[in-house]
Amino acid sequence: MMEAAAKHVKELYSNLVKGDRVALGRAITMVESRNADHRADANQLLDLCLSKPQTTFRFAVSGPPGVGKSTFIESLGQHITGLGQKLAVLAIDPTSRLTGGSILGDKTRMSKLSQNPDVFIRPSAAGDALGGVTEATREAITLCEAAGYENICIETVGVGQSEVTVRDMCDFMLLLVSPGGGDDLQGIKRGIVELADMIAVNKSDGDQKQLARETRQDYTQATHLFPEKTHGQQVAVVNCSAIEHSGIDAIWRLMSDFNLTMRANKYIDKLRKEQDSAWLRSRVNTLLEQILMANPQVRTYYQEQLDQVRSGAISVSSASAGIEAEVRKMFHL
Ligand code: GDP
Repeated sequence: MMEAAAKHVKELYSNLVKGDRVALGRAITMVESRNADHRADANQLLDLCLSKPQTTFRFAVSGPPGVGKSTFIESLGQHITGLGQKLAVLAIDPTSRLTGGSILGDKTRMSKLSQNPDVFIRPSAAGDALGGVTEATREAITLCEAAGYENICIETVGVGQSEVTVRDMCDFMLLLVSPGGGDDLQGIKRGIVELADMIAVNKSDGDQKQLARETRQDYTQATHLFPEKTHGQQVAVVNCSAIEHSGIDAIWRLMSDFNLTMRANKYIDKLRKEQDSAWLRSRVNTLLEQILMANPQVRTYYQEQLDQVRSGAISVSSASAGIEAEVRKMFHL
């Protein structure tokens, strides 16, 4: 059952849906907070946001550091706002704990977009684990949508694990690669390439133009060998230059077509429901673990078993069976 929202939360919500940027900033700070009162307010606010129908497009822009993500988003963002649409840019940065979340706060990044009234840019939350950062980002998506941003761009700042996480909260993933980046098709990075719904070979300009065309061919061939996407749409491989703004309009057209098709065939509804279910499952798993481990008896028993495993006295398997039996007995399960 949804709890009636407190007056100050209702007020924040009403400013938020009017598109007040200060209210949006405050709302995001609220969902990032670990304070229990703020958390309770945040939950009420997020419930209120459910009443807003969502015809939004959530897309990720990923790729290794230096490939040109922020330059690309700056160029794409200008194109999107030129079409009369609004854009929110949020970041997932698994290293933000170390850097204080300042990577995107750096003024040199996206300087034009940051002054555009139709764009809202929020640097990564300074969570103390990738889990915490991504929880806050998922909730920030909802808040930006309620505030009227119909396009939400999630930028991954880190490498590797963040791509998988970000794919779970977006409708579409664009992967940027550099000319000559064919090595990405081997080994571990191939897994990331397989997550992409579109691949753009950025820096297709100057001396690198020919190499970029060849790289595009390599990726096109590779995508033909990938398993078919659950959305059934073709993975486009294109060239672009974020610096010269070339290929950006074509990319947005392809992305918009992809989005329209997903809406027409209702794939997006199914996808978002699945994403919400998986998110709840993972939150509950984390919560249950925290609750169990906060119990002194469980913690002590766990520690004893762990010591025995480490000294070689018992196997992991029997330690875990012992812990299971103990927990069941304790909670009458
Ligand atoms: P990020 O780390 O992926 O966000 O990459 P940045 O956007 O910060 O760009 C890294 C470097 O690549 C910068 O020096 C950019 O000027 C440069 N760069 C970005 N896009 C392009 C492009 O389309 N062409 C060329 N030649 N350089 C680019």
